[in-house]
Amino acid sequence: MKLVSEFRDSALAKGLISQIKQKSQKPVRLMEFCGSHTVSIFRYGIRQVLPPTVEMVSGPGCPICVTANSDLDKAIALAKFPNVIITTFGDMIKVPGSRSTLQEVKASGADVRMVYSTMDALKIAGENPNKSIVFLGIGFETTTPTVAASILQAEELGLKNYYVYSMHKICPPVIRALLDSGEVKLDGLICPGHVSVITGAGAWEFIAKEYGIPCVVAGFEPLDILQCIAMLVTQIEKGESKVEIAYRRSVHMEGNLQALKLMEHVFEPSTADWRGMGSVPGSGLKIRKKYQRFDAEYNFKIKPGKTVEPKGCICGEVLRGVKTPSECKLFRKACTPQSPVGPCMVSSEGTCSAYYLFGEDNGE
Ligand code: SF4
Repeated sequence: MKLVSEFRDSALAKGLISQIKQKSQKPVRLMEFCGSHTVSIFRYGIRQVLPPTVEMVSGPGCPICVTANSDLDKAIALAKFPNVIITTFGDMIKVPGSRSTLQEVKASGADVRMVYSTMDALKIAGENPNKSIVFLGIGFETTTPTVAASILQAEELGLKNYYVYSMHKICPPVIRALLDSGEVKLDGLICPGHVSVITGAGAWEFIAKEYGIPCVVAGFEPLDILQCIAMLVTQIEKGESKVEIAYRRSVHMEGNLQALKLMEHVFEPSTADWRGMGSVPGSGLKIRKKYQRFDAEYNFKIKPGKTVEPKGCICGEVLRGVKTPSECKLFRKACTPQSPVGPCMVSSEGTCSAYYLFGEDNGE
């Protein structure tokens, strides 16, 4: 298949749905780790066409949603420094921290700019030599290599005013932490597609081998996801647990070695705070000492104040897959995309936003 429309072909989708229905005998619980998968599953009504034996739960794979309030508060505190320009991706601007959002501090005079890539941030740094430009590094293995490249490029360009505040995270350690917690029982995992382009599907082998949970990497079109579910159900019914790929046009077992090398050259593993998961050793990425002069955390004395979690928000439980947005008392009442209380309602990849936009009865 070459065209996007082919991955949405209804006749092929019907064939995969009937395959899933035929194969699925025992009740199973499948988690999609990635926020982009959550949105696709809701947008295309996939939960609604699955047999009652297949239960879907959403996981912690939305980078904005899992950013801890303590980190967000630091980003907001950085925006209040004189002569600092904060550059960030769009959704981040609206996420409520303990006391305010980046959008609110911007309205009070801080220079916060939405960018589409690190190239934009480097351009702003070049055009504003008397200001400090801080790029908020958010995201998993997918985005980190480009941020690493921006640091190398800033060095090459001799930019002395470009900084990155790294809130980057890596996925395998948090999946391990989630499984070790024993809070969520899973029979299969829909592994993230974009992340796997970089890490390779091999990154998930520990889940299949050590936890006995079948893993299939999926793309984001409806046929990708249905094929992935059919492959997971087949493995489960056969009593197998291995890593398979339902996204062969982009993902291989070994990943993008050049991107991984670049990431490793600039960043080193660290403990990261995840919303809902707490501190997870080895799940974060901090800038290596060699590139410390680009590290915003190292170069600015950030005083974010006391961290306060949004009252009544259960984003943490939603991200761990133990509760759904419908179980939150604020959902659709005090918390809407126009007036979000927690990040899962702000982010376009957030589970609460998906429930809000596509309906909480989407297969429940
Ligand atoms: Fe948090 Fe709003 Fe989601 Fe409730 S509905 S968990 S308040 S983001």
